[in-house]
Amino acid sequence: MTHQIAVIPGDGIGREVTPAAVEVLESLEIDFEFVEADAGDAVQAETGEALPQETYDLAASADATLFGAAGDTAADVILPLRTAVDSFVNIRPAKAYPGIDAVRPETDLVFLRENTEGVYAGHEDRLTQDVSTLTRVVTESASERLAEFACEYVDGDDHDGFSIVHKANVMRETDGLFRDTVKSVADEHGVETEEVLMDAFATRVCLDPEQFDVVVCPNLAGDVLSDLAAGLVGGLGLLPSANVGPDRALFEPVHGTAPDIAGQGIANPAATIISAAMLLKYLGYDEASAAVHDAVEATLENGPRTPDLGGDATTADVTAAIIDRL
Ligand code: ATP
Ligand code: MG
Repeated sequence: MTHQIAVIPGDGIGREVTPAAVEVLESLEIDFEFVEADAGDAVQAETGEALPQETYDLAASADATLFGAAGDTAADVILPLRTAVDSFVNIRPAKAYPGIDAVRPETDLVFLRENTEGVYAGHEDRLTQDVSTLTRVVTESASERLAEFACEYVDGDDHDGFSIVHKANVMRETDGLFRDTVKSVADEHGVETEEVLMDAFATRVCLDPEQFDVVVCPNLAGDVLSDLAAGLVGGLGLLPSANVGPDRALFEPVHGTAPDIAGQGIANPAATIISAAMLLKYLGYDEASAAVHDAVEATLENGPRTPDLGGDATTADVTAAIIDRL
């Protein structure tokens, strides 16, 4: 069966790094059908719509989507695209690569972040000039879905278990429900877990990231703590991510449109190419995925490198070197 891949480059360096990742996928001998679609500032300026219906429909029907970045319209593009693939988990690996200047070079973590609720599905109010409030939503069903995924993930990827990060000592109802549900699903599957309060996690991960491996957390905690981990591994240009739903998934670099370097052909394609390696694994091409990971890793270590990593190579040079190593 030929898998259909939606390709949505978006704006800024999304237009440079997304084609680079497609080039890498095309160099593998796999019969993909790539379908490109528009989203972001440029198409909004042209048509008045940041996310045309046909782009949404494509992401909602393709087997997987590769997305670059969107500028000012980012929230109007990526939030509905995550809904299009019904994504309930955001996978964010934070790994330091050999040869890259990192605060904690031994870091090798994967965050499994709840992707639908928490404060993002909550409601804020301004009751009086003096008082504002926020409600947050945590459901047993979403926590269960995340936990089932986490159990499969640690099983399939050969991890010992996972850490549950929460603040249930203060948010007893919401994070309490999250913790209890995730823990009980893990227990049913015989998966080992440890609980870590999110504030303690922040300190411990900075001091000694090696004590953690797979980290399961509520939405906002996952957002903050994975960015913290990004700081430990030293480079926004290197972090990939996957938004996974029950039947399809969307892959994107963690970085944005990088307007300061857009159009110069010097963006680091590594984050998007690693996202493409995650896409390969998701579709079951484990060997190809590992090969792309290895080729990226070898290129980061031995060069050529783009200017963000201290080199003077172009996006095209780095992409060609990765394809050569494949
Ligand atoms: P946006 O609003 O789209 O997120 P931004 O100005 O926040 O744009 P980011 O894309 O988040 O920019 O990038 C932040 C910084 O990291 C910029 O200085 C950018 O040049 C650099 N950067 C991000 N991604 C890359 C990359 N792939 N290659 C090189 N540098 C990058
Ligand atoms: Mg940004």
